[in-house]
Amino acid sequence: MISIEEAQILITRHAHPLPHATVPLADTLNRTLAEDVASDVDSPPYDKSIVDGYALRAADFSPEAALTVIEEVVAGAVPRQAVAAGTATRIMTGAPLPEGADAVVMVEQTEAVAEPPSLGKVVLRAEKVSAGQNIMRRASSMRRGETVLAAGHRLRPMEIGLLAEVGRAEVRVIRQPTVAVLSTGNELVPPSQAPAAGQIRNSNSAMLVACTRLADANPVALGISRDERHELATLIGEGLKHDVLLISGGVSAGVLDLVPRTLAELGVRQVFHKVAIKPGKPLWFGVLEQDGQTRLVFGLPGNPVSSLVCFDLFVRPALAALGGQGFFASAAVAARLASAFDQRGDRVTYFPATVRNDAGTLTAEPLSWKGSGDLRALASANALLRFPAGSRRFEPGDTVEAVRFD
Ligand code: AMP
Ligand code: MG
Repeated sequence: MISIEEAQILITRHAHPLPHATVPLADTLNRTLAEDVASDVDSPPYDKSIVDGYALRAADFSPEAALTVIEEVVAGAVPRQAVAAGTATRIMTGAPLPEGADAVVMVEQTEAVAEPPSLGKVVLRAEKVSAGQNIMRRASSMRRGETVLAAGHRLRPMEIGLLAEVGRAEVRVIRQPTVAVLSTGNELVPPSQAPAAGQIRNSNSAMLVACTRLADANPVALGISRDERHELATLIGEGLKHDVLLISGGVSAGVLDLVPRTLAELGVRQVFHKVAIKPGKPLWFGVLEQDGQTRLVFGLPGNPVSSLVCFDLFVRPALAALGGQGFFASAAVAARLASAFDQRGDRVTYFPATVRNDAGTLTAEPLSWKGSGDLRALASANALLRFPAGSRRFEPGDTVEAVRFD
């Protein structure tokens, strides 16, 4: 049996960034930029006021000076008159600075003197005025033609805002992986159905679809396959049209565990089967190389918690690698164990826990958990504790590794 790290390395060998696609800006969140992007504008496009106030010549300032207001310029408008000695223009945030002005005094430091029908005068209550104050100079943020984002950059909300500012309604990104999700098992019925004797509901499909969404990939739910060669082959064939196929169940050692065999018949090459991890040991991974494309196939153990742990350790980083972000496993943090834990056996163990912050110290409480079918306990967990292989009792206060969900 191989280790978690060996399994991850084998997956990285096959998880290469997908081809590029040009997509609308609105669909680029968390995607990887596949081109260098240059600005098509100066930003700001003109010297602009960054406050509501009066544009004037700094040299005109003296305490209590009264300047004649010649114009009012709102954002979106253009000044028509130059500011000369003894005059000022009422200006709003974001509006272009009038010619002749070299400073803006914020409205809170002025007093308007009404003289209808003229715009009246403004008395300066500021203590001093320096040239350049409250002005953002043209192109001080970026120049037209300048590269503002390089290929490889992950697009967060701020990058998306910047792309909008530089006029990119469409952007070239690394294509989002599509992930087919197939659950197998004669015992499974959909969530909408009441289970009859011997049946349980299919929790894995809904959960894996949600995991896929959280991983910024595009899920395609294929439903449930009976443990029957023909039906399994048909649905797996459907799933192999996607970048990644997640199959839950049917990879252990039961008499109806037909998944590895069926995959082999469809030309999917096994890369590994079984990993030294608890839960999750039966994990199967293989690839289909066809028409210059590599499809990744994960056979996840049917037990829901095993499936979830395998998704987090192996599938999520693989999806990130396909999306151009590299293969990164979740980082663990150190926490102090709140109650004793008996680690048994020769596999690294992941165990649900609640981790809380006690005045700067992370404390981890292992949950009462009935095993890898117990999703209910997992729903109150916010972390998985990672215990190294080898039997050992961990005492309260011992430092352990925690991988947090949040
Ligand atoms: P398997 O890996 O097919 O041997 O399944 C292991 C255990 O997980 C069995 O108890 C199954 O009933 C259960 N199981 C398999 N698939 C699912 C599923 N999609 N949702 C919930 N439980 C499942
Ligand atoms: Mg099964």
